[in-house]
Amino acid sequence: MPLPTSRPTPSGGSGPDLPTATDSGTGVGAGSTGVGPSHMSPGEFRRCGHAVVDWIADYWQDLPSRPVTPPVTPGQVADRLPAQAPETGEDFGTLLQDLDTLILPGMAHWQHPGFLGFFPMTTSGPAVLAQMLTAGLNAQGMAWATNPAATELEQRVMDWLADLMALPDRFTRGGVIQDTASSAMLVALTAALWRRAGEQWRNHGSGPGYTVYTSTEANCSVHKAVRLSGLGDLQLRRIPVESHTQALRPDLLRQAVEADLSAGLTPVAAIATIGTTSTTAIDPLPAVADICRSHDVWLHVDGAYAGVAAICPELRWINDGLEHADSYSVNTHKWLLTGFECSPMWFADPAAVTQAMTVTQSYLREVTGDPRQAPDYRDWQIPLGRPFRALKLWFTLRWYGADGLRAHLRRGVELARIFADLVRGDDRFEVVAPSPFGLVCFRLRADCSVNAQLLKRLNAGGDILLSSTDVNGRFTLRMAAGGTATTADHIAHAWSRIRAEADRLTGTGHRSG
Ligand SMILES: *Cc1c(COP(=O)(O)O)cnc(C)c1O
Repeated sequence: MPLPTSRPTPSGGSGPDLPTATDSGTGVGAGSTGVGPSHMSPGEFRRCGHAVVDWIADYWQDLPSRPVTPPVTPGQVADRLPAQAPETGEDFGTLLQDLDTLILPGMAHWQHPGFLGFFPMTTSGPAVLAQMLTAGLNAQGMAWATNPAATELEQRVMDWLADLMALPDRFTRGGVIQDTASSAMLVALTAALWRRAGEQWRNHGSGPGYTVYTSTEANCSVHKAVRLSGLGDLQLRRIPVESHTQALRPDLLRQAVEADLSAGLTPVAAIATIGTTSTTAIDPLPAVADICRSHDVWLHVDGAYAGVAAICPELRWINDGLEHADSYSVNTHKWLLTGFECSPMWFADPAAVTQAMTVTQSYLREVTGDPRQAPDYRDWQIPLGRPFRALKLWFTLRWYGADGLRAHLRRGVELARIFADLVRGDDRFEVVAPSPFGLVCFRLRADCSVNAQLLKRLNAGGDILLSSTDVNGRFTLRMAAGGTATTADHIAHAWSRIRAEADRLTGTGHRSG
């Protein structure tokens, strides 16, 4: 693929092998005559763009031969980069070359089939190509009027997704795509404060009297949202979990809410989780919802990783109790192949969030519509501007179809089941929490320090990556299947590595049957 090797000079001249402005029609970069910025012409864009698509396809193909995580030390990548941006423009071929030589060796490869740590952050061909289209359109959908098609497509695909996941009817037409689950959390808390404290909150902010409830196992984004909403750490009640399931104990939640009410405090919101980050525990939604309803507490449900599993009918039991949630969010950028970032969120009553967030400005007059006709999504999120994220969700849902999505989710669940069986078959190990999705939490029946050493040795090999957590205070390894390219072979390989390292650490041979 011949790439432009020289570029138009700032005075508008161009090298002999470069397309001229006239040979590719009009568009961004076309028609640069005289002194002006040297935008990429449509012809150059076409050639460079094809090279980029080839680059990505090669990258995905070659991933298994790369180390999952780079053997670099802090500062090593930065030290190889110039201290200043270039004064004159460089050609695109050089940029791609530097990507290969300077950047790739310092990357952790999240799409590597041996990447089994944290949660998978999946993407797919259709999602990446849709992101490219979104980038090319580069339209800003802060209001219906600033991007009508994006707004209406978002509403429609959010209804599609709600339907695929068999969500309660109350969420129909209540969907919005946030950047991340953390944003969804803060937006939900803001709507909750507005619903509970109205003008008092809007005029005077969140005082010391408001309280928020979640489990000790909730994602750190709950804590962050509490702080960002102007509440203090002491206003967040962390309810203990049941030790075997790691799920929130509703009896202790009820006690905490009632104690705060007797003390004259105002319980505002509770955050329950479907699939906690540590172990994929599922809080008892019906019991939590019951407590919330009796005290007018906003219930936000965080299904960031596991919520999309409800696309499979056999996993739909996880939705039990969602019919009483005020808001719900999932990350399709984790398990559902849409690429980062894409966090669908639903409100039972969108007016709660739009009333909490609307700020009128004269310069937005022309683009403020009637929310009953079409949403101005800027009032459903933290930033004013927003990219056209619905396109990648639309492309992904259509490319795979519901059966394709189910096949992908089921493979993740199946690989976790296979892995958990292997772990259970070796009496040196134990599985330490239920694993209904793609994550298995396990450990050697040994000291925490031995388990920490095991993880360190496993990850040093470069062929797999696992992560860790604490379960009931003990160091635990996490194996998360569900990556786009991860197959049974990769899981079998991971297990053989784990067994081999365990042999070395414990000085024992294989005891598995
Ligand atoms: C990953 C995760 C989050 C945070 O997701 P972001 O989109 O990165 O903000 C929140 N909650 C749970 C349960 C998660 O697993």
